Amino acid sequence: MNSFILPSKEIALELSSYCGANCVCCPHEDFPLKNRNMDFDLFVKCVDDAVAHGAISIDICLMGDALLDPGIEKKLGYCREKYPDLKIYCSSTAQTATPEFVSKYIDTLQISMYGVTKDVYEAVHRGGLKFEKTVANIEGILALPKEKRPYVTMVFLLLPENEHQMENWKAIWEPKVDEILIWRTHNWAGRYVTETLPESKYASAKSCHRPFGGDLCVWVNGDVTVCCFSEDKRLVIGNMYEQTLKDIFYGDKIKRIQEIHKSNMFYNCGLPCEKCDQIFSRADALVYSSKNRTVGQKISHADHVYKFEDGVK
Ligand code: SF4
Ligand code: SF4
Repeated sequence: MNSFILPSKEIALELSSYCGANCVCCPHEDFPLKNRNMDFDLFVKCVDDAVAHGAISIDICLMGDALLDPGIEKKLGYCREKYPDLKIYCSSTAQTATPEFVSKYIDTLQISMYGVTKDVYEAVHRGGLKFEKTVANIEGILALPKEKRPYVTMVFLLLPENEHQMENWKAIWEPKVDEILIWRTHNWAGRYVTETLPESKYASAKSCHRPFGGDLCVWVNGDVTVCCFSEDKRLVIGNMYEQTLKDIFYGDKIKRIQEIHKSNMFYNCGLPCEKCDQIFSRADALVYSSKNRTVGQKISHADHVYKFEDGVK
């Protein structure tokens, strides 16, 4: 137990649960923890603890846009100064991602952009997002010398509102950025699923492997979950205000979730996993990857491609 190493060598921290968008595919508006920023002291505790247990990277987004945290420079400045080798992964709409900022603090920037025209982009992302501003930020970032900019991945989520633009989006962005990915939607840990599947359907269910090998996810209020799709209390395995990562990783709450996943006891298990599409084959989820990624990988950085199932003991 003394040699505890975070399985994915990464931790996910919700710096901010504010978001300037209100995407048609996202439950952010219903999110109980929305519109808060993580306390600096909690952030420091998580980063110190994670690095002490093998983290080589932090993911600074869960349900929100970390770039909207007014304290982000102080937080990431702490990382750059104390842990210069610690990589920082950020997923964002890039609406507020200025070239100056990302050049200084971000190693891998994953940009969600779900349209190629103003009407479709703004109809899908909604909120206050402006197409021109996003494009200007992306172009500004790409104009930086390569060694001064993050690795840039662009993501397109296939939706009824934008599917007619997919090929055009691919043609525009694939030659410009380091990597592109086109995904189909997931069901947010079954958040809105009302139907109950018959028990027989669970014969083909299989662990998503996140409770064994995924990032521990720390939400703005310090709660820690085994997966990034939901802050649901039933997935909470501890709280970083009161505990350490090691206590949490070896605690009873995660053990119970792991037990259910290990024995495929999802039917009637009382966890969101029961209604989550990730326990069934989602080989269809990745529509296109310019780097031949596969479903079930965590891709925070070009050189840190990690399979969730690698963490299974
Ligand atoms: S940008 Fe992300 S967090 Fe914000 S509404 Fe869209 S999908 Fe949700
Ligand atoms: S099955 Fe779904 S809700 Fe459960 S841990 Fe995996 S991704 Fe999360």
